[in-house]
Amino acid sequence: MGVMDARSHIADLAAFVTASPSSFHAAADVARRLAEAGFAEQRETDAFGDTPGGHYVLRDGAIVAWWVPEGIDPERAGFRIVGAHTDSPSLKLKPQPTASAFGWQQAAVEVYGGPLPNQWLDRELGLAGRVITRSGEQILVATPAWLRVPQVAPHLDRSVRDTLHLDPQQHLKPVYSVGRPDLDLLALVAEQAGLEASDIAGHDLYCYVTEPPAVFGPTGEFFASSRLDNLSSVHAGLTALLTAEEGADVTVLACFDHEEVGSASRSGGAGPLLEQVMRRIAGTLGVRGDGWHRMLARSSCISADAGHAVHPNYAHLHDPEHRPLLNAGPLLKYNADLRYTTDAAGAALFRRACAAAGVPVQDFVSNNAVPCGSTIGPMNAERLGVVMCDVGVPLLSMHSTRELSGVRDPGWLAGALAAYYAGA
Ligand code: ZN
Repeated sequence: MGVMDARSHIADLAAFVTASPSSFHAAADVARRLAEAGFAEQRETDAFGDTPGGHYVLRDGAIVAWWVPEGIDPERAGFRIVGAHTDSPSLKLKPQPTASAFGWQQAAVEVYGGPLPNQWLDRELGLAGRVITRSGEQILVATPAWLRVPQVAPHLDRSVRDTLHLDPQQHLKPVYSVGRPDLDLLALVAEQAGLEASDIAGHDLYCYVTEPPAVFGPTGEFFASSRLDNLSSVHAGLTALLTAEEGADVTVLACFDHEEVGSASRSGGAGPLLEQVMRRIAGTLGVRGDGWHRMLARSSCISADAGHAVHPNYAHLHDPEHRPLLNAGPLLKYNADLRYTTDAAGAALFRRACAAAGVPVQDFVSNNAVPCGSTIGPMNAERLGVVMCDVGVPLLSMHSTRELSGVRDPGWLAGALAAYYAGA
């Protein structure tokens, strides 16, 4: 991928992040882009169609899309799967979100996943997610900048310059107004959605940072954005699915919700979504019984999730022989305890794809004394039993509200995934 391609990929990634302030919006924007490219929505309540080409299933904040090649031979074909996740750490509105204190109007929130709490201070925040109406209709909502979690001034508490202690109940409550006890937060959200407050029967609403993504640095080599973990992978997988040359296998993009809280949900990577969709696709190909297992034995999966570049100020936290950099290629992530799925076969699979796409690749393994994160990879390996690896774009400041990547790695990841889909 040339420099110009890298720039247009980053510009498109920035547009995707901006359109995707919540997991629900990310899944909806993936669906919109797929529909524009001619993919057909498959409703889960309908029988699956058996026409070749592109299809997708949208379930809450998750989406599974697939492409069936014309004239596929189910006795030779398998699934080529890319998995990623649509959610990021955040602050989630409580059921009764309107709180008042000392003349201020505040939003009551829970902590979702493992954010860097200090990163949520002193930034303009919007609310994004979905409401469900009394009649059962789902409406996506994204407000403009409405909220802010103000940090205490060092004049009032000198200790915050050395150790910032943030109690999740007391110190992370955003303000949204002052001296206006009449302003009910849910009523404002309802108005934004074109509803009455009494129409809202349920809500999943999260704070998001409204500052748009930016390319920066003296040579324009850096990209700063919220939610790069893991929209960088969702967008790379989508780009790959839409641009890959047709191969012999069914290509699948699975974007799950709830990875940051353990994936155990109906739209999470530990749930039944992917396997249900794959079994139904196999059914449309006339694959039954042992044929399903033969098809799985020919299948593979790349779990794509952002990883860590070496931090120059904290290099001791990395393994001395494995210090990946930005703009040096996507990561192959290893862990002997299998918190990442990559084994020799999975590594060879991704290296083959990178070689076919002319993309450099870097190895990541944790320092033994530092805990290792995980991804949706292991639970899908456990469930499907296919060859797998864990890969991703290297970042600094993971789980910050403004993560940092290079401008080249996201496009390179897309190129490698497209080569994998095409049969490399
Ligand atoms: Zn992630």
